[in-house]
Amino acid sequence: MLVYLNNGLVPEDDAKVSVFDHGFLYGDGIYETLRVYNGKAFMINEHLNRLNRSASLIGLTIPKTDEEIKKALFLTLDANGFKEAYVRITVSRGAGPIGLDPALCKEPTFVIIANEFKSYPEKYYSEGVAIMIPEVRRNHRAALNPQIKSQNFLNNILAKIEAKNAGAYEAVMLNTDRFLAEGTISNIFFIKDGVLCTPAVECGILDGITRSLVIELALKADVKVREGFYRSEELNTASEIFLTNSTMEIMPVNRVNDSAFSPGAITSKLHEAYKQVVSE
Ligand code: PLP
Repeated sequence: MLVYLNNGLVPEDDAKVSVFDHGFLYGDGIYETLRVYNGKAFMINEHLNRLNRSASLIGLTIPKTDEEIKKALFLTLDANGFKEAYVRITVSRGAGPIGLDPALCKEPTFVIIANEFKSYPEKYYSEGVAIMIPEVRRNHRAALNPQIKSQNFLNNILAKIEAKNAGAYEAVMLNTDRFLAEGTISNIFFIKDGVLCTPAVECGILDGITRSLVIELALKADVKVREGFYRSEELNTASEIFLTNSTMEIMPVNRVNDSAFSPGAITSKLHEAYKQVVSE
């Protein structure tokens, strides 16, 4: 596999960054993940806008324009012969002496990794996946703004460890006020009395690109949408629950801690509408 590192493609074994990179030392960097369907990068402009937003929120200058990033991305896909791919774009602060000051790093490190997309098992969609509510809370948004899609992922990793220990696929964290926030790599939706509910961005979540599209598709399909502050107990009486992100798209949930759920009609209708947008 070939990886794009800084200014060109290198074999994956040579794709190395310095141990002095502040991304490695301090998690000082940002990233995006996106899907490529049939050679087309889905919602690439939205992902680049978010990458630029993350960069500006941490005072990082991305060493490439959007057009240059797109070029590098397609070069990486072509060189690897990938048409269905998962792509991660990472920009870290770069290498510099030990110390927190970003000014110690002269050049950001820019990486694009593309992998052939391996579909999730079909039964994740037909039967759903289990989620749990971990003990660890989502970082408070005043401490680490979730709108920064940062390399600093320890909060989510701690939640993921709890999910694994509980035999669940995803951990959906509460915020520090005990309102539902988001999964470790996903946003959560549930349906109650026919209304599609999802935690508001003000709950301290990443405003997922898939989340925004799902809201748009629901409104188009005349499904009422409510973004709000919800307790996890609300899930107990939900008729359907699902997760979203750029790679899983819309994935039904069949268990929350010990309560069982079934994939439902609104979830599958929205997923069909999502696939329609992808195919267009
Ligand atoms: N929330 C978190 C914490 C994430 O890491 C992600 C995706 O990686 C999402 C939500 C979903 O975002 P998107 O739909 O833009 O992929």
